[in-house]
Amino acid sequence: MSFSIHGLAVSRGIAIGRAVLVASSRADVAHYFIDPAQAQQEVQRIRIARDAVAEEIARIQRDLPKDAPPELAALLDVHLMLLQDEQLSAGVKHWIMERHYNAEWAITTQYEVLARQFDEMEDPYLRERKADLEQVVERVLRYLKGAASPVQPSARPRAPQGELLGDSMDVPLVLIAHDLSPADMLQFKQSLFVGFVTDVGGRTSHTAIVARSMDIPAVVGARSASSLIAQDDWVIIDGDTGVLIVDPSPIILAEYGFKQRQGELERERLSRLRHTPAVTLDSQKVDLLANIELPEDAAAAVQAGAVGVGLFRSEFLFMGRSGRLPDEQEQYLAYVRAVEGMQGLPVTIRTVDIGADKPLDRAHRHDDHLNPALGLRAIRWSLADPPMFLTQLRAILRAAAHGQVNLLVPMLAHVREIRQTLSLIDHARAQLDNRGQAYGPVRLGAMIEVPAAALMLPTFLHYFDFLSIGTNDLIQYTLAIDRADEAVAHLYDPLHPAVLRLLADTIAQGAAVGKPVSVCGEMAGDVSLTRLLLGLGLRSFSMHPSQILAVKQQVLRADAGKLQAWAQEVIASDDPARLVQAP
Ligand code: PEP
Ligand code: MG
Repeated sequence: MSFSIHGLAVSRGIAIGRAVLVASSRADVAHYFIDPAQAQQEVQRIRIARDAVAEEIARIQRDLPKDAPPELAALLDVHLMLLQDEQLSAGVKHWIMERHYNAEWAITTQYEVLARQFDEMEDPYLRERKADLEQVVERVLRYLKGAASPVQPSARPRAPQGELLGDSMDVPLVLIAHDLSPADMLQFKQSLFVGFVTDVGGRTSHTAIVARSMDIPAVVGARSASSLIAQDDWVIIDGDTGVLIVDPSPIILAEYGFKQRQGELERERLSRLRHTPAVTLDSQKVDLLANIELPEDAAAAVQAGAVGVGLFRSEFLFMGRSGRLPDEQEQYLAYVRAVEGMQGLPVTIRTVDIGADKPLDRAHRHDDHLNPALGLRAIRWSLADPPMFLTQLRAILRAAAHGQVNLLVPMLAHVREIRQTLSLIDHARAQLDNRGQAYGPVRLGAMIEVPAAALMLPTFLHYFDFLSIGTNDLIQYTLAIDRADEAVAHLYDPLHPAVLRLLADTIAQGAAVGKPVSVCGEMAGDVSLTRLLLGLGLRSFSMHPSQILAVKQQVLRADAGKLQAWAQEVIASDDPARLVQAP
């Protein structure tokens, strides 16, 4: 039966596909697609794991002391039975052979399917067996983790065999999860999922940001979507309104199919603006830059007509590596790839911003920090580990020998932090001098994303060559709402007068001393805010490549001079949203 679920629209467009549920309750599980040619090998891998676990359980049984309670032996029997249950092994085989999931993903998926069956059982004794099944699956996962996998991830999931949509199209897949970390999303970046849904997350959570960077429709904060939607259900994701429609009727399907085509046509229309310079009607030149997560994203940035990278979130090189951080050479090569990928255009590399909703990896996800967004994050994390930070600084300075590089520092709030950072940059240069290694000049920038920074702009402008406003965090910290928490998502307001005040001051004070200011938070890519930002004097916007052309269209239609007075009226109003909607 058809039903709908409401969440937060975070990445535009319509996606229609079959649900793939990722069991993120066992978050420490690798999810990737395998090459279909390796499916048999993957099935064999899980058989070996299952047999090894069976042997382990049998051994525990054999070694039970004589006086062990009989319930214990009976419980081990149940575990053995569950492990060898046909429904488990047939299901796992299905996910591997038909869907090309890796073994770990296959077994957790099948666990979710069986767990639901247990939940529905009347008999409380049987219902409780779910916990036993979970323990058995955990054992298998532990074994798989310890054993090296000969099967390589395949970047492109193949459509399920035997299932066709229309004539010959592969069945599209949409990913449904309780939660996905930014690192998980990155893993899926190369895949062919046509849409994403998570139960948790806010509009500017990093999971949402990565979804946007993939330019794939996504809805986050959909509360219980992952328990209401079943594996293989047909789902429509409306990334414009945040609505999910599960098991849609043919009429609804047709309607959304139409909307989908309209969106495609609009994109096609916009693509004609690619080579048009971003200049307002009154001849104000505007820089439209790209935000990237990986060096390989530079290609999409150039393709979208970006005039440089305004924000390279370098932390994505550090994530999902089980704590083994990239060394200097690996980082250097990655930064050079980004610089070369931009073909002579400038690249702003932000030093690592780990923490809050960007844990290093799954093991650190629930680090025992009371409030990670206010904890050891970004520059605080870097300054707490000078050797790690110096490694990154050397890599960036060396990459600057290959092109125009700007170095951007996140989340500064204290003068002490500014001084420490600058002195470490000097130290990194001295280390390279000592080694006789080449490096290039960099312009130094600070992110304005903590209200404290926005309230001491003269100091920041004294120490730095340019400023970049991280509105995602500036809003989070000004309004005291967790940007990743869907429960307070309704309070996340880019048009709050306090936020606009800080934004306007930063732009104005930068202009007053002739230092560039850009916005690299999600506000920069929001077309409904382009005119306001132009009116406030902003001439540099950094956003995901997928948003550049739509923002360019707004720039081309705007008269920045005329917008100035209106923008001042907006920021003086106690209801700016009303004026922005009806200028
Ligand atoms: C921001 O805070 O606006 C920003 C661009 O940085 P991030 O989203 O990575 O925190
Ligand atoms: Mg930030």
